[in-house]
Amino acid sequence: MLYKSGVEYADYCINHVEGCSHGCRFPCYAMMMKKRCGIISSYEEWLEPKIVENALELLDAEIPKLRNKIKSVHLCFTTDPFMHGWKEISDLTLKIIEELNQNGIKCTVLTKGVYPKELIDTQKYGKDNEYAITLVSLDENFRKQFEPGTAPYSDRIESLKYLSDQGLKTWISMEPYPTPNLVKQDLKEILEKIGFVDEIIFGKLNYNVKTSEFENNKSFYEKRAKMVVNFCENNRINYHIKRGTWGETEKKNKNFSKKKQSELNDISRLKLPLLQYQLS
Ligand code: SF4
Repeated sequence: MLYKSGVEYADYCINHVEGCSHGCRFPCYAMMMKKRCGIISSYEEWLEPKIVENALELLDAEIPKLRNKIKSVHLCFTTDPFMHGWKEISDLTLKIIEELNQNGIKCTVLTKGVYPKELIDTQKYGKDNEYAITLVSLDENFRKQFEPGTAPYSDRIESLKYLSDQGLKTWISMEPYPTPNLVKQDLKEILEKIGFVDEIIFGKLNYNVKTSEFENNKSFYEKRAKMVVNFCENNRINYHIKRGTWGETEKKNKNFSKKKQSELNDISRLKLPLLQYQLS
């Protein structure tokens, strides 16, 4: 269940579900890989999540062997841990986070769903976890077209803000950010909704023909990356601009620590049939 990630911002990771009902049409890189490897045959099959039903037993067997090597575990790269409308998946994810935290292992979590409020119980889940949502727009028509099974943007933001207000560390994955030929929007408006977070990761949209067709693609992303950096610097938010979004190297600033509630008050506020299988 636990394996070393090859991703720059994550150590180990866990994917306790196969498939994802969110059905992102950017397209979803995980779905493309599963199709290429012959694990799934169609988009429709991808939409039917299959839980690894013995995930907790496997985890219990692996933790003692890996505990000393792991800095943190990321949930998830090839599925969504709080898949919208799938309580069974959310419940299992909570148990996995609890198990890891009780063994002294921190989790980083990324979802396009909604965070359960019980995560604020830091006796059970620990206080060092980092919780994130993916947010690339506020336009619900865009969401319904490109991320059809996900939670509405406002619900995602609200659930993340709730965790932030309780003192937990939160971040935003603003990738893959769409070009204007996919959705016309004001990045400033999106940023103003998420001024409470501790970090923003910003990256361009890859693997999409429409984006490549957008003539001013390069300068569009450079300008948007600069906006993100300025916003973050002004609001003491850490940032990470992914490689290829603004020049060929990534840009990072990780100097800011968790903002206090009094500081947050100064920042623009939020106005606002299951298949199962076994792995051996
Ligand atoms: S939420 Fe993530 S794993 Fe699920 S379909 Fe979208 S991109 Fe793929």
